[in-house]
Amino acid sequence: MTPIGLYIHVPFCDGKCPYCDFFSMRGNAETMDKYTNSIINKIKKYKLEYPKMQADTLYFGGGTPNLLGAERLCSILTAAKEAFGLKNAEITVEANPDRNLRDFFRQVKQEGVNRVSLGLQSTNAKELCALGRRHTAKDAARAVEDAHAAGIENVSLDLMLAVPGQTRDSLRESIRFCLNVGVTHLSAYLLRVEEHTAFWQKRRQLSLPDEEQAAELYEMTCSELESGGLSQYEISNFAKPGRESRHNLKYWNLQPSLGLGPAAHSFFNGKRFYWPRSLQGFLNGEEPLSEEDSDIPAGSFTEYAMLRLRLTAGLTETECHEHFGCGIPEHLRKTAKHYEQAGLTAVSPECVRFTPKGFLVSNALLAEML
Ligand code: SF4
Repeated sequence: MTPIGLYIHVPFCDGKCPYCDFFSMRGNAETMDKYTNSIINKIKKYKLEYPKMQADTLYFGGGTPNLLGAERLCSILTAAKEAFGLKNAEITVEANPDRNLRDFFRQVKQEGVNRVSLGLQSTNAKELCALGRRHTAKDAARAVEDAHAAGIENVSLDLMLAVPGQTRDSLRESIRFCLNVGVTHLSAYLLRVEEHTAFWQKRRQLSLPDEEQAAELYEMTCSELESGGLSQYEISNFAKPGRESRHNLKYWNLQPSLGLGPAAHSFFNGKRFYWPRSLQGFLNGEEPLSEEDSDIPAGSFTEYAMLRLRLTAGLTETECHEHFGCGIPEHLRKTAKHYEQAGLTAVSPECVRFTPKGFLVSNALLAEML
């Protein structure tokens, strides 16, 4: 049985950032205790049902996982180790640099956490304020130092592109900051104004960079990070050699993953399912819902190609043969070849992949190719 990636969604935050559509809410100690017990019970239930199942990555995402506190988080981690081994596993915790994380990092490191992902977003005070974030660049630098001091040297930062008021210069400063504090990994996301967010309500008043400016910011980010030693390996992800996120690579390589917690998604036993966005429902033992009615069948070649083409490694003949017993389809190869001259794709006998320019229009390219 291939080891799975285990994802735990921690749905608690101090407040709601105006651009965020993740499932999160405020939580008190009692709710967090209940939530911790529910997760541990689910872990035990899966262990009973799949006694041979092992995991080699664990990712605490959110929400703000550090709000759970080291003790609760470590008790979930202990249960996960007992159930799924987690031998030589990559164990990541997302954290918010708006508070002192020194003791938290020290305690979770002792239980096996070896990777930290911090929501930096920007180092520019005006941009942070526009995004409703409560930390400063100094707080973020201290959080990285604290992770390093605790012995966690695998640190990732999240950066946001095309935020209100962002310029090439201000973004370059944020990028330099990331390179200077010595992170091993960086995720750079273009801001999308999603429905049901505060930004959506006031979308006409936001001074957002237009599409062309956003594309420029993205391409600049790719090249600055590349020259700073963080190579792009996915549309939005960059890493030092060997520091690519093992957990997220499982998603893009269509490997099995089990997500626990409200709003967590899974690809497990060849099926896709998710828990509804309801904490109460999850605490009450609600069962996950199937994603079977999705247009793209779980585990199909179309799904595999869509995910693999997010990676700079692209779609390869060898891996297509390994997984599906056939090479890259001729129609896909031909369409990719057509866009090669425009600098959107790169095609070789072994591989079809998108360039950074191509990543910017990947949805349109995929629609033609698949
Ligand atoms: S801290 Fe993160 S998860 Fe929480 S509201 Fe802000 S962006 Fe969303």
